[in-house]
Amino acid sequence: MPEDRMMPNDALRLLFFSIEEVMGKDGMKAALRGAKLEQYIDNYPPKNLSLDVRFSEYAHTEQAVEDFYGPRGAKAMLLRVGRATFNYGMKEQSAVLGLAGQALKLMPLPMTSKMKLLLEQMVAAANKTVNQPTRLEEDADSFTMIVDFCMCQFRPKHQSPCCYVTVGALTEAMRWLTDKTFAIQELTCMNLGADCCRYRIPKTPE
Ligand SMILES: [Zn+2]
Repeated sequence: MPEDRMMPNDALRLLFFSIEEVMGKDGMKAALRGAKLEQYIDNYPPKNLSLDVRFSEYAHTEQAVEDFYGPRGAKAMLLRVGRATFNYGMKEQSAVLGLAGQALKLMPLPMTSKMKLLLEQMVAAANKTVNQPTRLEEDADSFTMIVDFCMCQFRPKHQSPCCYVTVGALTEAMRWLTDKTFAIQELTCMNLGADCCRYRIPKTPE
């Protein structure tokens, strides 16, 4: 397992509120107990960007949600949590997302150009704010978001890529921007031993 890494309070806070939205307050409490993070029950990290919490804490919380629903039900729930992180972050003007928001959405640009701008903003926020090394690549048919240090390294080994929260957040970001659904896939996952987590965002919607 790699050395742990610090992340901003607001990133973990955003995850907690998103889980609460999907599982309810009691479900969230159960998840925090499952993650052995009881210190956060009724005591979420503050809304600021100070690097006081850990990637492993984020990972253990995701894993607790997965354990709560079991491997079959968990995927859909974690995708929902991921969608909620984007929506909640936008609504709350979360410091973590750091997006220009509506201004970008209303820009008179082709859809693909707007997608690229939003993805670039998300990548910049990951690097600058979340302390998570992230890159964007592009080819004729798709964008690829590449995460070089992912919390999934702190979760037990899975059989297939497990970063559903990120897939959900990307899906919701593109839906919010374009009103269309894109079939976003996690191609490689550090949890399975890959050198990075790679997400393919097709340029054509479903
Ligand atoms: Zn990952």
